[in-house]
Amino acid sequence: MRMQRFLYLCLFLMTSLGCVARDNVRIEVFIQPEARSFTSQYTLTTRAAEGKLILHLNKQYHLSGVTGPNVRTYTSALFYDKFTDDTLRRITIEFTDRQAQQRVTVQYSGAIGERFATEGMAEFTAHANWVPTIPDQEYTVVDYRLTVRVPTTYQVVSTRAARRSRPGQYRFEGSTSAIEIGALAARQFTTLTSATPQFRVNLYKANGPCTAPDSLLVQDAGKIIAYFNQIIGRKDPIRKFTFLLPGVDRTASGLLDNAAIIAYTSFNTHDPGDLLILAHEISHKW
Ligand SMILES: [Zn+2]
Repeated sequence: MRMQRFLYLCLFLMTSLGCVARDNVRIEVFIQPEARSFTSQYTLTTRAAEGKLILHLNKQYHLSGVTGPNVRTYTSALFYDKFTDDTLRRITIEFTDRQAQQRVTVQYSGAIGERFATEGMAEFTAHANWVPTIPDQEYTVVDYRLTVRVPTTYQVVSTRAARRSRPGQYRFEGSTSAIEIGALAARQFTTLTSATPQFRVNLYKANGPCTAPDSLLVQDAGKIIAYFNQIIGRKDPIRKFTFLLPGVDRTASGLLDNAAIIAYTSFNTHDPGDLLILAHEISHKW
């Protein structure tokens, strides 16, 4: 009888876990900021219907191979995507069998886009569109492990603290939307932290000293988070928030993983317009 109960329990756990099993992503990226180039190995474990899987990849990159235990063949072609109004690379992978879970590894390399690099900084974030994605599942939450290798004269930060690090190698783990897995590499980061018993705000700035507007940003973010946690975040409050300042002039963007990239070279929340941008980016989570 006990054995039977145990088996029922196993069956229950297997089916319930099967329902919530997220896609799993493992990325190993080697960044060479001086050469403005990188190579990446992206391993995805996902459900594949009909023994087939389609992935989109930035058209600028060079695809060197697709492998996996059940990969029979793959094709790669450029196509025009109406939704993004851009040309993308479509990789169509066919498997030897129709089992539900499949694992594929995509190897690719490329140049770091001009808007995502400066002298001594390389940005690998959502806007850089640097990871392959399943069409229409770009914002599906996945479990990930991101390993970043850089020259030892560089440091790497991400939306959360590194799980492990040693000179030249950093490992980050967590769960976030597929397209938002990322990191920032720079010669040096300066850090600002503000902590209350309720939450902590971290700011990482690439290759420059923190200024009065940076301190004000952290202070204002604290006030905004405290307010949002009371108003719209009671059920799911922010406990930690990370700002990444790459030091390029592009845009600001909020990420699902309680983080935002402030890609402006001058950003001062003393200006009501910038303060509004800050509040907007923090609210992305909800
Ligand atoms: Zn936004």
